[in-house]
Amino acid sequence: DQLGAVPLTSLLHETQTIVAARLASSGAVLTLDVPDGLPPLRAGPTRLQQVLVNLLTNAADAVEGRDDRRITLSARVQGDRIAIRVRDHGPGIPDAIAARIFDPFFTTKGFGLGLGLSITSNIVRDFGGEISCRNAAPGAEFCVTLPIAAAEA
Ligand code: ADP
Ligand code: MG
Repeated sequence: DQLGAVPLTSLLHETQTIVAARLASSGAVLTLDVPDGLPPLRAGPTRLQQVLVNLLTNAADAVEGRDDRRITLSARVQGDRIAIRVRDHGPGIPDAIAARIFDPFFTTKGFGLGLGLSITSNIVRDFGGEISCRNAAPGAEFCVTLPIAAAEA
């Protein structure tokens, strides 16, 4: 999975196909907010897809059984980076666990492995990016920033 210039829009269409059944089983409704003409990211496409699948799966778990099951994935240019945000309308992240959610094997789910965010943050770091999360009141928002691919000479 070599690092290269990854066009986010086409990767997102593939990702949507992968997670569609998973989102549907949670009753989650995903909206994409990605502008046309977004520059490509520097990333490994398979691993970037894994990042997106992990964040969307967590968002689906968070909204399951709630009245508002909306999830939004947005992307924006931010300086020399692209910020990808996955926002849900679930319960948010309790302050008491916020420091631990990226730890391997940390889970609050009876069925969880607790590896999703640990793997995700390692991948993002390998790409020279950053991941953060915040409570969006209501819900949680994870933000991944990744470098824009340098233009080919
Ligand atoms: P898992 O999904 O297997 O539990 P993760 O590493 O993906 O493991 O997530 C770790 C923990 O972080 C979850 O168990 C949950 O407590 C919390 N978490 C992750 N994403 C969200 C979210 N969107 N809303 C609320 N809590 C979340
Ligand atoms: Mg998970």
